[in-house]
Amino acid sequence: MSFFDSVELGPPIEVFQLTKQYTEDDFPQKVNLGVGAYRTDDGKPWVLPVVRTAEKALANDDSLNKEYLPVLGLDLFSVLSTKMLLGSDSVPLAENRAFGVQVLSGTGALRVGAEFLAKRLGKTVFYFSKPTWENHRLVFLNAGFQEAREYRYWHEANRALDLEGFLEDLNNAPEGAVVILHACAHNPTGCDPTQEQWGQIAKVVKERKLFPFFDSAYQGFASGDLNKDAWAVRFFVNQGFEIFCAQSYAKNFGLYNERTGNLVVVSNNLANVAAVKSQITLIIRGNYSNPPSHGARIVAYVLSNKELNDQWGENIKTMSSRIIQMRKRLREELEALGTPGSWNHITDQIGMFSYTGLNEAQSLHMVQKHHIYMLKSGRISMCGITPNNVQYVAKSIHETLT
Ligand code: PMP
Repeated sequence: MSFFDSVELGPPIEVFQLTKQYTEDDFPQKVNLGVGAYRTDDGKPWVLPVVRTAEKALANDDSLNKEYLPVLGLDLFSVLSTKMLLGSDSVPLAENRAFGVQVLSGTGALRVGAEFLAKRLGKTVFYFSKPTWENHRLVFLNAGFQEAREYRYWHEANRALDLEGFLEDLNNAPEGAVVILHACAHNPTGCDPTQEQWGQIAKVVKERKLFPFFDSAYQGFASGDLNKDAWAVRFFVNQGFEIFCAQSYAKNFGLYNERTGNLVVVSNNLANVAAVKSQITLIIRGNYSNPPSHGARIVAYVLSNKELNDQWGENIKTMSSRIIQMRKRLREELEALGTPGSWNHITDQIGMFSYTGLNEAQSLHMVQKHHIYMLKSGRISMCGITPNNVQYVAKSIHETLT
């Protein structure tokens, strides 16, 4: 007899299981295209040089200590981070109607934001794209939402955005529902709406009185340009929307395990700001009490120093251009092999991930036969592709499809 006898075994988390399988595999040419983390041309993890510089400076600063941060975290970090998202000319920022709160990376921002919406505003229904990052559902349900609904996003046959389905599903959403929107570099498809399509999406969100909750996990990492990657969020804000936005520094600063993130709130009424902040404070207090300082200090240090900020810009370009280059190479290799199908989607897509179009059986074949670890959905992380393995990956896709 045990107190825990009634506990059932939960399903494994695919992406972590895949990494474990990969690690245990002793095949020399194995490739990990599962995990969403940057790799160098040599297939190694990368600590951004600008992060190392900041860490050294912070380590030598004897005025810093390990005391608790406030519940809402490091103020300078949130201020600079919010400005990075909304732009230095943002009207809500100038009017103090927008603010940020330091949280536990992008996931923590989604969780705190969702808990606020569910518990303080009584929201029950949320929408996410089909497909989406696999954690959206669990985070929102755990935060107190009751009903997870999908909006169509990916058109299988066209290997492109299903705008019609997207708009139709939002058009049928109940008033007040929360809609999760990927700010850029949609995970897992790598396919973003165009500016014109964002305009159509915004129109329906407004008409149906939905609440846009942006998820910004790749600002700067996607295109190499912070402003370009924030376009959709700024567009909504300029249209007068109130929004939440979850910002992550996992990818663009490479601070994956430091759990560094910011929840941005834009309100249309300055009078609400203090109350909203106070309720978010209570949610965090009752959750993890206060955030860790290390990553937030690094980000604040870099963003507040012109020279380091420029260096960061270079580091971001190194990452985004390597990925863009690997997209080109993979497409070229597949086309040179004459692999069936068209491969322009590989270079049309943006960001860390690509939806290859391989189905579940084909993706499993890639794992079992070729030791190329990828999700069942056919998603690959472009970061796992290097000049040394791109031919092997292309040949394996070719073999799988012929
Ligand atoms: N949203 C999306 C779309 C993501 O891809 C990720 C990272 N995989 C996250 C949020 C959150 O990541 P983290 O909590 O590590 O910042």
